[in-house]
Amino acid sequence: MNLDHLSYTSLLAFSQCPKRFYWNKTLPPAEEEGIALTFGKALHASLLDSLEDVDKAMETFLGVWGNREGDRLRNPQKAKEIFQLYHVLKHCKPLPPPEGTPKVEGMSRWEIPFILDAGLSLPLVGYLDGLVETDGHKRLFELKTTTFNSSGIIDAVQDSPQVAIYMAALLEYIPDITEVHLEVVSLKGPDISCSVFPVDISDIKRTMEWVSRLDIMIQDCNRNDDWPMNLSACNSYITTGVCMKNCPYKPLCMSDDPQSLIPVLFGGQSHDSTQESSSGSEA
Ligand code: SF4
Repeated sequence: MNLDHLSYTSLLAFSQCPKRFYWNKTLPPAEEEGIALTFGKALHASLLDSLEDVDKAMETFLGVWGNREGDRLRNPQKAKEIFQLYHVLKHCKPLPPPEGTPKVEGMSRWEIPFILDAGLSLPLVGYLDGLVETDGHKRLFELKTTTFNSSGIIDAVQDSPQVAIYMAALLEYIPDITEVHLEVVSLKGPDISCSVFPVDISDIKRTMEWVSRLDIMIQDCNRNDDWPMNLSACNSYITTGVCMKNCPYKPLCMSDDPQSLIPVLFGGQSHDSTQESSSGSEA
């Protein structure tokens, strides 16, 4: 396949399920994006606006959301409640992207796209949710939405290689940045929990070593056109129908004849997908 970049999402997919990585890169995206993903994207684009102006945040939100109806937990009214709460809480002050960061059409004024040359065979790309200032310190802004308890999400994010990769990208522009400002929006409330935590430079180095090893394996599979399609972190659940959360390829995995389903679900044409999301999903 024609690989031209890697992202945290694709690295994670490969490490958890090479089959998911392969299908993501070779099948067209499923036609309809799920409501949870669209709501997450719209909220990521607009939440920092609400610190200044709730109406401006709604405008940005609706620009991504369109005229979808949503569901009980994800709809424009719910977004407005979140903005109103965040406007009052004022946990942080948003800062514009650092000078020199690339501009990408369609991104909000806070999101920061990056292309990281980490010594890999391919560039590592993604985008950061933003940069904020709290207590006189610049911090990486990271947002998660959840329908579960927020404390578990805070612990999970602190240990995630995702923030270490994001910090590596931000360090290219701000060499002395060391901390993450995490906001977890629980949709059931709404309720917003804030946490600030440091990312150790040794954790960043170890994460980049992990990335480098995955890169070598991916290039090796690609060179030999030999992908380990029977390995998956969620194999054991397939027979019970409880596959990895939000995996769009679950119907293929549950079928005895996935090739016959591909035209029905994905339009049939193989391609080299670049449709990846580095954030915007719910935990
Ligand atoms: S459903 Fe599970 S096994 Fe199938 S592609 Fe997704 S993660 Fe992999």
